[in-house]
Amino acid sequence: MPAARTIAGLAAMLRSGETSSRDLCRETIGRIRARADLNAFITIAEDAALAEAGRADALLSGQGEGDGARNRAGDGALGALTGIPIAHKDIFSTFGVRTTCGSRMLAEYIPAFDATVVANLKAAGAVTIGKTNMDEFAMGSSNENSFFGAVANPWDAATVPGGSSGGSAAAVAARLLPAATGTDTGGSIRQPAAFCGITGLKPSYGRVSRHGMVAFASSLDQAGTLTVTCEDAATMLDAMAGFDPRDSTSVDAPPPRAADSLGQTVAGLTIGLPAEFFGGGLDSAVAASVQAALAELEKAGARLVDVALPSSENSIPCYYIIAPAEASSNLSRFDGVRYGFRAGEFDGLTEMYEKTRAEGFGAEVKRRIMVGAYVLSAGYYDAYYMKALKLRRLIADDFARAFERCDVIAGPTTPTCAFRRGAKMDDPVAMYLNDIYTSSVNLAGLPALSIPAGLVSGGEGELPVGLHLIGPYMAEAKLLGVGHQFQQLTDWHERAPPGVGGE
Ligand code: GLN
Repeated sequence: MPAARTIAGLAAMLRSGETSSRDLCRETIGRIRARADLNAFITIAEDAALAEAGRADALLSGQGEGDGARNRAGDGALGALTGIPIAHKDIFSTFGVRTTCGSRMLAEYIPAFDATVVANLKAAGAVTIGKTNMDEFAMGSSNENSFFGAVANPWDAATVPGGSSGGSAAAVAARLLPAATGTDTGGSIRQPAAFCGITGLKPSYGRVSRHGMVAFASSLDQAGTLTVTCEDAATMLDAMAGFDPRDSTSVDAPPPRAADSLGQTVAGLTIGLPAEFFGGGLDSAVAASVQAALAELEKAGARLVDVALPSSENSIPCYYIIAPAEASSNLSRFDGVRYGFRAGEFDGLTEMYEKTRAEGFGAEVKRRIMVGAYVLSAGYYDAYYMKALKLRRLIADDFARAFERCDVIAGPTTPTCAFRRGAKMDDPVAMYLNDIYTSSVNLAGLPALSIPAGLVSGGEGELPVGLHLIGPYMAEAKLLGVGHQFQQLTDWHERAPPGVGGE
């Protein structure tokens, strides 16, 4: 794909004066409107975007005095993202721009502050074009759980884009804009990135602030990026990451400096392959693409070794106890009193609560709240929740042992390519199994990346396959370096869906 639709390509065009941020943003909004069929956006923030773009243009032409588009050092130099249009998953609070979280509960909610991720990206000069569609409260793997309707996969509209960050993934895959934020609690950045043929990065837990991100499962949620290239993911991560005193789980670690480590070679790198990620349930065409990608890395000098993650077979039951438990607690705040939706008619306070929650939440969210309340209840806490916490430790220990033998772990991101819309809506367990390779990573708090690694026949034509790379804690830069090297050797990331031009 021509560099023009990447952050790096657009930044060069802005700096050379070939285009302005305002023109770029107008054009981006035109693209989004022309692809309304994807339903990738819930809100387009046109006026705010053009105002931000205007400030970026002043800075780009050397006349800026506003600090909106300056780099984070505030020294007046251009930021890495100055004037670049991006979108945020509608889970991030945006000052003055409605933030729905894909739910009727927050359909009219307008935050009075920016999430730290949003503020950091603004400070690096990025222009927020709008808010992308998502599964309600980030619960889902297909983007069919949104109050604002399902999102289509740009590769084949009859298939799902993955979820819960499906709007962000579809928007980037269709080249509407070069980057969007997402969140990943059990796979919600990596699985849609794999299904849509783009690059998805889930950083280590604590690397990026959760302040202002609507909470789903607080011990698992992490903000990350959806981009075309690893190079752009590095630019985004460097701008987003950092210690935030407003998030008590934010880690005061040295910055990732991901952009600086893209040049590292894969020669001498040891890649661990867990047998558990290549077993039953893995589609054979997906497996073949992943093996070919690994062979490519081996040819470039990487060494492939076997590692074991024996407890990972328990990651789905473990995740689907811990995540709903935390969700049931987090979502208790939506009571019709503080903010958000309130039922129109009720008789007394109790009925107001009941009707508000009955009408405001969708089916999957209610299922999670019920499961979560059940596993936390006095009678079942030890049998389910305590047991899941113990399993979580075993899963994390497996990774620690595996990383004594390798630098990164690799496998498929998902067991299959994008599936057909509607195919799993009546079978929650089949839907949950999409997270079979991804959720253990969140349980262990590790960073991981999904990069395009092939196309296999499916749907109307071809569908993308994702290669999953998992790193030790805080090793985002290493992962992005490996991914970038792979993207120098292959062009899978440059393949755009049928009918989507790169320019
Ligand atoms: N698909 C998983 C779920 O439904 C993961 C969601 C996520 O990562 N936000 O919980």
